[in-house]
Amino acid sequence: MARKIIDPKKHANFGFNGCAACDAKCCSSNIVFASLYDINQATAHFPILFYVREKQISPVYFFYYGEIVGQKCPYLLNSLCTIYEERPYACRSYPFSFESMHAYYDDGCPQIAPLEAGGMNLFHKGKINANIMKNFVSDAFHEQKEKNNNETEVFVKFCLDSNFLVSYKDFYASSAMHQNFKPSLLDQLFILHPQRIGVMRMKNKDIFSDNPEYLEYIVSIIKSQSHIQKLYDLQ
Ligand code: SF4
Ligand code: SF4
Repeated sequence: MARKIIDPKKHANFGFNGCAACDAKCCSSNIVFASLYDINQATAHFPILFYVREKQISPVYFFYYGEIVGQKCPYLLNSLCTIYEERPYACRSYPFSFESMHAYYDDGCPQIAPLEAGGMNLFHKGKINANIMKNFVSDAFHEQKEKNNNETEVFVKFCLDSNFLVSYKDFYASSAMHQNFKPSLLDQLFILHPQRIGVMRMKNKDIFSDNPEYLEYIVSIIKSQSHIQKLYDLQ
């Protein structure tokens, strides 16, 4: 799956033709990038882990372990999302995203194609169809996107600099949960270490004084880590 720009010329007659004929292809990612935007809400169902890619570390919703072909999110039942109202924003906006005045779609979605009866035009009078924005994109997220991304980066840097993160593999060294894990993914995942955070707080009582909201995020993420076992059991 890759993100592609929506081109007013190339896609002038394209539409989103609906999910009815699809077997939820979008619900088959191991991980999906997260931001602080809906982290408190998403942690109700998904573990938030940290993923290293090209020397950059980012928070991710963690969906499942392996690389079994056709493996899907454990909340998907009979091609329906069982946590639809509470699904993460990344699921809500799929297959669309917007950045720096450009609109994108994910080419893993088979229903972005020449418009069919009952589909939704990508463009209306030369502009992205307002219904696409209304149905897939949160105005609040869109308005704050850049700020939100920057804040997420600063938060992750704080966790790294404070030595709060530890490799997933080391943290769960004695757990059987490794067995089905895609090895390359396992090497790239990090997790918040509750004891380290406790020790750092004892050593430096002011560690959260500049950013009291970080403590709330951290508590929420640590709680979410218990879903790792839950997802493992659901599979
Ligand atoms: S958004 Fe695209 S990939 Fe996901 S279920 Fe609908 S048609 Fe399928
Ligand atoms: S939370 Fe729902 S929409 Fe998101 S991947 Fe899982 S089943 Fe699909």
